[in-house]
Amino acid sequence: MDRFAGRNVIVTGGARGIGAATARRIVAEGGSVTIADVLDAEGTALAAELGDRARFAHLDVTDADGWAATVAAAEAHAGPVSGLVNNAGVLATGAIDGGDPAEFRRVLDINVTGVYLGMQAALPSLRRAGGGSIVNISSTAGLMGYAFLAPYVASKWAVRGMTKTAALELASDGVRVNSVHPGPITTPMTEGMGDEVAEGQPIPRYGRPEEVATMIAFLLSDDASYSTGAEFLVDGGQTTGRVVAALEG
Ligand code: NAD
Repeated sequence: MDRFAGRNVIVTGGARGIGAATARRIVAEGGSVTIADVLDAEGTALAAELGDRARFAHLDVTDADGWAATVAAAEAHAGPVSGLVNNAGVLATGAIDGGDPAEFRRVLDINVTGVYLGMQAALPSLRRAGGGSIVNISSTAGLMGYAFLAPYVASKWAVRGMTKTAALELASDGVRVNSVHPGPITTPMTEGMGDEVAEGQPIPRYGRPEEVATMIAFLLSDDASYSTGAEFLVDGGQTTGRVVAALEG
């Protein structure tokens, strides 16, 4: 498949995990990719492995100037940007009771402001490309609550809402905007979490980064030409509901 031939995509948090799987997928399907991350060693190594159509850009997604430089460099590398994957994110655990407000702000700055700045920075290039697709990575934590994850849950609900707003605002530019909601996925972010995280799901296991990349690639591509402003789950059925044994007839 060459769904991304001639396409130029920026993937934030692309140095590892879901972002790295997405970068690999874009290159495998003929596209060019800018891996934007704060992890210079991992990002540079991945870009080198993927070849000429991949490049690394050091980017802290909370830095507006860094965003401008990243988009300019991506455009110089492979023409106007027609795809943006706002994937960079951080997790923080802890109760609301006694939680650190500075930590709350840090998570929102990366997970929410980073997405806002990314869409803002990429838009002129997306317009020059004649339109395109933005995929914002939320979570099942953007669809329900999780005890002891208040900043993360707040940030992922914000991403979901902002995605719908962006879909409305950017439709006239030919830009589709959707959110992806992974369940537990085996990446450095979930390292050390036990199997119980996926217990009770209809598909009771962790997902693979490649399984999320498949959904992201679909939404980036013209295969998703009639989808915008919507939530796409890759969660093993985690948000489906729960089995209450007492109700069994
Ligand atoms: P990960 O920790 O492996 O990757 C996150 C990447 O984001 C890292 O490469 C990290 O360096 C980068 N990053 C963090 N802060 C950054 C910043 N300020 N600027 C630029 N890059 C930054 O985690 P992952 O599991 O691959 O997560 C990718 C996305 O998927 C995140 O948004 C995460 O919230 C979301 N997600 C993950 C899971 C899961 O179970 N792994 C579930 C639902 C949603």
